[in-house]
Amino acid sequence: KIRTRIAPSPTGFLHLGTARTALFSWAFARHFGGEFVLRIEDTDVARSTQESVEQILQAMHWLGLDYDEGPFYQMQRLERYQAVVEQMLAAGTAYRCYCTPEELDAMREAQKARGEKTGYDGRWRPEPGKVLPLVPEGVKPVVRFRNPAEGDVTWDDLVKGPITINNREIDDLIILRPDGVPTYNFAVVVDDWDMAITHVFRGDEHVNNTPWQINIFRALGAPLPQFGHVPVILGDDGLKLSKRRGAVSVTAYEEMGYLPEAMLNYLARLGWSHGDDELFSREQLVSWFDGEHLSKSPAQWDAAKLAWVNAQYLKQADDGRLATLATEQLRRKDVAVSDAQVTPAHCALFKDRCTTTADLADWLAMYFAPVAPSAEERAQHVTEAVKPALVALAGRLATVDWEKAAINQAIKDTIAEHGLKMPQLAIPVRVLVCGRAQTPSVDAVLSLFDRKIVIDRLQAL
Ligand code: GLU
Repeated sequence: KIRTRIAPSPTGFLHLGTARTALFSWAFARHFGGEFVLRIEDTDVARSTQESVEQILQAMHWLGLDYDEGPFYQMQRLERYQAVVEQMLAAGTAYRCYCTPEELDAMREAQKARGEKTGYDGRWRPEPGKVLPLVPEGVKPVVRFRNPAEGDVTWDDLVKGPITINNREIDDLIILRPDGVPTYNFAVVVDDWDMAITHVFRGDEHVNNTPWQINIFRALGAPLPQFGHVPVILGDDGLKLSKRRGAVSVTAYEEMGYLPEAMLNYLARLGWSHGDDELFSREQLVSWFDGEHLSKSPAQWDAAKLAWVNAQYLKQADDGRLATLATEQLRRKDVAVSDAQVTPAHCALFKDRCTTTADLADWLAMYFAPVAPSAEERAQHVTEAVKPALVALAGRLATVDWEKAAINQAIKDTIAEHGLKMPQLAIPVRVLVCGRAQTPSVDAVLSLFDRKIVIDRLQAL
């Protein structure tokens, strides 16, 4: 059975890169009718927070990346790692190392001075016939993995193809710290083994860790998963996507008013393709995502394309759902609205002009908060010549049925009476009532207002 996982470290928000890897892992499992596991890698105790765990879970939920098992927490599995370490010590595939941090620093400095590659020199590594140093007093040992000294580690990467590393390139890595907390490279192997993971997708910053992990799997007699290392996502500027150059968390995009299905669609296309298809549903993604067509080269973040994708989804989104989202966005902008005040009709009227639900809220704010037309627009459009017509229109609107056709008739009657053309009245109405000169059709826009607000604003000449 295919089993994949995502294993975020809870040291911040769910990063877009991690979300994309999660998405690939999830889609791959779903495609093959397998299972997707969530594991929280919280062994970096100083930097891991509960708040971050919650943000990650929330962002996964928002994207609809449902998991079949988990979340598992590494810090709740310490006994298991320690038990595996004991087995390895007994089997001779791991050993205790009593080097102090000072000793390791000195080792590194000496290697540098000699122009050698830095790394652990194996001084506590047992070898037949070798006499080990005397165990110093008061030093709590770490446990190191006894990496094979010879031979190659080779795997056929699902993304990058065959990769080979010689064991001479790799030193004996620490698997257990003196405080009993495992290191990433060890915990990840025990977990992937215990959780029966068959396919590991992760960012290619981990490529260099994989040879160690493969060697540990082998030392444990555990079945090897397949590995797929996904290239990084580069920012618009060709540099690695980072906080300094814009939003990098899934939550930030939720807050900016992107729709989760658009985000999912857009993220899936970063480093994966299905022909020329740009817009596809979650179901299509699952039916297509078989691990092929993953790109070997870095994907480029393209804010304009994301905006386009989101706009397409926004046009098709249910108006009732948009009303809820627009309400949240209005509150984010400090516009006070009660729950049912934004209606589906509000959203239907404006959504085609919007990229995000935040844009939608920018349009809808005029219904719920005062507007402030600029002095220029007032001077240009609300001229002395048109003021009598505006007053007359306010009078008519006070008594008509409050719906689009009747409002339209009131406007038509007013322009006929005052010898104006439609824009000569409609534009100043927009400026006064909406605070801007361009809107969708004015009768439709007005019909969604409270009548009293329209009349008050028309009279505030
Ligand atoms: N905690 C690691 C990370 O967030 C997981 C890497 C892996 O998937 O093995 O980068």
